[in-house]
Amino acid sequence: EGTQLAEVAENVYEIPRRDDMRVPARVYGSASLIEEMRAEGDLTLSQIRNVATLPGIRKFALVLPDGHQGYGFPIGGVAAVDLEDGVISPGGIGFDVNCGVRVLRTDLTADDVDGSEADLADLLYEAIPTGLGKGGYLDTDLGDVREILERGLGWMHENGYATEADLAHCEENGRLPGDAGKVPAEALTRGVNQVGSLGSGNHFLEVQRVAELHDAKTAAAYGLREDQVVVMIHSGSRGLGHQTCTEYVRKFERGYPGIADSLPDRQLIYAPLGERLADDYWAAMNAAANFAWANRQAMTHAVRAVLGDRFGDPAVELLYDVCHNIAKRERHAVDGGQTEVLVHRKGATRAFPAGRPEVPAAYREVGQPVLIPGSMGTNSYVLAGGPRSLDLTFGSTAHGAGRVMSRTRAKSEYSAGELRRTLRGEGIYVRARSGGTLTEEAPGAYKDVDEVIRVSDALGIGTRVARLRPMATIKG
Ligand code: 5GP
Ligand code: MN
Ligand code: MN
Repeated sequence: EGTQLAEVAENVYEIPRRDDMRVPARVYGSASLIEEMRAEGDLTLSQIRNVATLPGIRKFALVLPDGHQGYGFPIGGVAAVDLEDGVISPGGIGFDVNCGVRVLRTDLTADDVDGSEADLADLLYEAIPTGLGKGGYLDTDLGDVREILERGLGWMHENGYATEADLAHCEENGRLPGDAGKVPAEALTRGVNQVGSLGSGNHFLEVQRVAELHDAKTAAAYGLREDQVVVMIHSGSRGLGHQTCTEYVRKFERGYPGIADSLPDRQLIYAPLGERLADDYWAAMNAAANFAWANRQAMTHAVRAVLGDRFGDPAVELLYDVCHNIAKRERHAVDGGQTEVLVHRKGATRAFPAGRPEVPAAYREVGQPVLIPGSMGTNSYVLAGGPRSLDLTFGSTAHGAGRVMSRTRAKSEYSAGELRRTLRGEGIYVRARSGGTLTEEAPGAYKDVDEVIRVSDALGIGTRVARLRPMATIKG
């Protein structure tokens, strides 16, 4: 019972090819991680099997070690499609367009912050708007939002909210070719005054310390030292991205009723590349991605202000910023030749190895920094894009620990007070909007991040560089 899986190599499994699959479906994981993927009525595996039926998909449909069920595609899923006969599918990108993670490195040590964790959590929580509602760290009107949608971090730089180095240390330098004119009107409205806002639930801003270095040479290239204080930010394109995705899913369903009816799962709805709707969505998705970068940058600006006030202007530099919900045009080896494909990464992080031109010059000899959160009570990691990522995963790895427990179940399983006490006992101070946010996000609601990272490292897709521990977390 359940979807059949054949182990083809260590930590590599394949679902036997069914007639309607155009490529094999591959799952990367250990026995225990795969067992967790099966827990949800096997949805993760049946979803990736469905992804393998998409027109123009190349090589294989992939689930990464943190994979779990999502909208159409699994979260922790990768699919690369041909630019000629492929498709673009919002389910392969996610509702929170360019949800992603950045890490700021400081010249503070854990000792400098020791004893101030609670204070710091309060200051950050007061500075940065959280939750679903309106309000951002920056005041931005409709005109600003339109410009941000087209220029991303370029706009932030021109307006004094980003340095040259920030741009250099961000995927795509914080800008993709977006078109504000393709972003739905209601999405634009939702973007007003949301630049520099965390969002709810899973999104967080966390002060962490570097607990261990696994790879001294790469850590040095990344400017990481043991006991250094870093700040990790996880957020996306807020209501603007969500509204954009929602409206394009509807447009695709209405524009392509025949496609919707023929799909094994209607949530896989797509537009064939080259058609107008596909171009429109792609340009809107890129615009929402620019908004997400501006959002994470605005929170960076807030962190600089808070740490500056509290600790006398320490250095706060952007180590790197990665997207984990996006589709990008990239060159990959497929069928013996180099070719351009559209790589959908949904809950997946790009993990390009040393040498790829997309990796910033400062890191090109060691590979791209890959930033992977765990939970507010466990390790998080910095990895480097691994030597085997191009062959195995179109240059990708996991994006987190991945959920094992639904929010509803986590809420009934944990108590906020107890959780807070346990975390405090470990020196971790949390500020959240409600007890509900805390329990939904309990460390036990997530998979074992150490195991996810072990598998990524063993496969050589994303290799361990540094292990991080939380000190103070703010949650939406
Ligand atoms: P997602 O983008 O799928 O919502 O979440 C990405 C990952 O963030 C999750 O899989 C989980 O491992 C991690 N995560 C969620 N909340 C927290 C938190 O408060 N702190 C840290 N360090 N990681 C978290
Ligand atoms: Mn998100
Ligand atoms: Mn995310």
